[in-house]
Amino acid sequence: MAVSAKAKALQAAGEDVISFGPGEPDFSSPAHVVKAAAAACRDPQNHRYSATAGQQELREAVAEATTRNSEVEVTPSQVLITNGGKYAVFAACAALLDPGDEVIVPAPYWVSYPWTIHLAGGVAVPVLADQSTGFQVTIDQLEQAVTERTKALIFVSPSNPTGAVYGPEQVRELASWATDRGIWVIADEIYEHFVYDDARFSSIAASMDDRWVIVNGVAKAYAMPGWRVGWMVGPPDVIKAAGGLQSHSTSNVCNVAQKAAWAALTGPQEPVAHMKAAFDRRRRTIYQALSTIDGLECLVPQGAFYAFPNCSEFLGQRVGGRTVSSTIDLAEAILEEIKVAVVPGEAFGAGGFLRFSYALSDDDLARGMERLVDLLGG
Ligand code: PMP
Repeated sequence: MAVSAKAKALQAAGEDVISFGPGEPDFSSPAHVVKAAAAACRDPQNHRYSATAGQQELREAVAEATTRNSEVEVTPSQVLITNGGKYAVFAACAALLDPGDEVIVPAPYWVSYPWTIHLAGGVAVPVLADQSTGFQVTIDQLEQAVTERTKALIFVSPSNPTGAVYGPEQVRELASWATDRGIWVIADEIYEHFVYDDARFSSIAASMDDRWVIVNGVAKAYAMPGWRVGWMVGPPDVIKAAGGLQSHSTSNVCNVAQKAAWAALTGPQEPVAHMKAAFDRRRRTIYQALSTIDGLECLVPQGAFYAFPNCSEFLGQRVGGRTVSSTIDLAEAILEEIKVAVVPGEAFGAGGFLRFSYALSDDDLARGMERLVDLLGG
């Protein structure tokens, strides 16, 4: 968000900035969703408070979608509608953690996880999974990180920021490791629909009996980040505790936004397929362009809409007018020299990398890559 703020400031000053920064689709929300929201605005019932845990019909739609996509049997009472997936992560941590409880966070991680855990009184324990394992943590690494205070593991696949997708066998292994250890898994499934080539989404929850919480939302799949609708799904007592927290902190999520989310989940799914096809096309383009740059090493992203190349070869080198000593420096040099915004790996607990979101138009993507290849050399 800091990168996109700086990029927007430059844009406002008249600069032609191309942004690979934001983690949000460049598409508008589907037309039928907007229509449902407009109708909801006119219904006085939506002008009032509603149930804290969420509108019943939306909880039902989420339960159905979760049962279908994550292959776990859930009822609407196991669903809490939250202010975006972000608040679902927080509510899950707040419900599960006692002060000082440790949560294993595979790195590179989504920026908010460590802070969310901290806000909920827990301690984040990052475990770095590098390129050699395709940014996927191994059981050995988890074994080294686990202590008697370990309460939970955060698991996100497809991943922001790496684009990695764990295979079904690895997912099952992690699930049985967590089960044997009695460790909760908070499964962030917000990118479940964006998987490419042979990669398949597999929910870790499907391989566990209990001790799992799924967090998800409409932000990515339906191009609805600004509507702020997400959810957590889990055991009834955890959902009840999280609902209590929500009752005293935010009350119900905006009614109009909930109606829009319901329309997204239950209406035509073509917009999801359409976006997925566009992201897949852009993924190939960006991967090809990044691969032509000497000294920059990129794995083929398999999911979400991010490429995460290793740029450590550039550290200590001159880029534009300066010598860069970190990928924060490198991202700044790229923004200043060629007006291309990217996010430095440090934000995700992995210096030496840059994150490129390819949720931008094909034209901008091509122009941005031309500039980058010019700057960093082919
Ligand atoms: N999890 C991950 C991995 C994300 O990338 C994001 C958004 N960047 C979220 C959760 C939260 O999404 P939202 O709060 O917009 O629903």
